[in-house]
Amino acid sequence: MKTYIIIGAGVTGLSTAYHLARLNAGRIVVLEQGAIGNGSSSRAGGITSGLLWTETGVQARKIATKWFRHLSYELPGYTYHNEQGCLNLFSPELWPTREKLLPLYDRLNAPYQILRADQIKARWPQLNPPENYLGLHDPLGGYSEPAEYLTASTAKVRSQGVEIREQVTVRELLRKGDRITGVRTDEESLTADTVILANYAWVLPLLATVGMSVPAKTFIHQRFVSSPLPDVGRFPPVNADPYLGYIRPAAGNRLLLGIETPDVPDLKVDTMDYRMETLAEPWELVAPAVELFAEFFPGIKQLSWETIKVGLLSFSMDGEPILGPLPGVEGLLMGCCFHSGGFSYNPAMGLFLAEYATTGTTSLDVSAFLPSRFAVNETTEYLTTSITQSQSFKRRH
Ligand SMILES: Cc1cc2nc3c(=O)[nH]c(=O)nc-3n(C[C@H](O)[C@H](O)[C@H](O)COP(=O)(O)OP(=O)(O)OC[C@H]3O[C@@H](n4cnc5c(N)ncnc54)[C@H](O)[C@@H]3O)c2cc1C
Repeated sequence: MKTYIIIGAGVTGLSTAYHLARLNAGRIVVLEQGAIGNGSSSRAGGITSGLLWTETGVQARKIATKWFRHLSYELPGYTYHNEQGCLNLFSPELWPTREKLLPLYDRLNAPYQILRADQIKARWPQLNPPENYLGLHDPLGGYSEPAEYLTASTAKVRSQGVEIREQVTVRELLRKGDRITGVRTDEESLTADTVILANYAWVLPLLATVGMSVPAKTFIHQRFVSSPLPDVGRFPPVNADPYLGYIRPAAGNRLLLGIETPDVPDLKVDTMDYRMETLAEPWELVAPAVELFAEFFPGIKQLSWETIKVGLLSFSMDGEPILGPLPGVEGLLMGCCFHSGGFSYNPAMGLFLAEYATTGTTSLDVSAFLPSRFAVNETTEYLTTSITQSQSFKRRH
């Protein structure tokens, strides 16, 4: 029987475990240095849209949204909130760049509807975009509550026989010649036929133990959840680039508000002992974010703010995910750099990692995401630089 070790019990690691178990792959062990979901997954907004920037991204998200709908039935306690779809909002300045992608969506049969400001207001009276704004509505999009999804996924993979070991830190990848043979934790060495890195913001220090790297940068990101809204209303999650953030309905008739900090430089995670809990909670960002959203969502000014989650987003040098086998070694796969959309991608990325691990290939051509697309020298050079999020790629969910 083959053994698969997955490093990281966030949504990517859990989804990989789920698909491996579904494919009857063998013994599956997930090693997690903290508690399940302890990385970015429990901090996510959970918003999903399929209307991305590249052919592979759009195709992968079609698969992901199909799986979210399926999991919504399969996993007790989890609901994919697709009732209102997902709205992507554009100012006249931002629209032309997105408009160029419409032929791609048409060719790939990714459904969408362009809505004028008056149509948006008529459909969702809580929303009040300026009259020259446009919405690109994605009927397959939606959102998940990360806590629900993590709990339900964990219960599912455990019922499938997956071993999840929490509070176990992988210190080193073990290599014999051109094969990765397992991992060393603080307590022991474990052998595996395939090791899968699903450790997102921590991927660089672990790859460094076998002399490898990928051009990845991490940025701090935060979102807030409000007190209950006075009116129970229905509106979709909105990716609102003109306001540098996003909103969505949240459990308990609340509002979730996420805001980017474009001028903050990337944060270098260079040790496995790094913890997101050490990030300061930037409550001072709430008031300016509320000000930015006040015209679009007039009800926002009446709310108080109950919780904050702050974590890291991981971006690659070309803005697209890094997924698949590492060049030059056997037995090592990775999935990281999902920008601000790793929650949204997870059911598809877990599927592709499980397919790579069991058959060496994937049901969708995801070669555009391969780690081998980056030259070693450009990776080395990229990692020595420091950039702000605004100098990286504009990607939202
Ligand atoms: C505030 C915020 C809002 C976001 N909103 C959205 C959104 O609306 N939609 C969306 O799609 N995405 C969103 N994201 C991005 C999303 O959260 C991430 O892309 C996604 O959670 C990545 O999942 P993951 O499983 O790959 O990584 P993680 O959830 O970070 O999991 C990696 C795990 O690996 C573990 N680990 C690391 N190193 C080791 C080691 N050496 N040994 C053992 N375990 C290890 C970590 O403890 C961690 O639990 C948001 C992120 C943030 C911070």
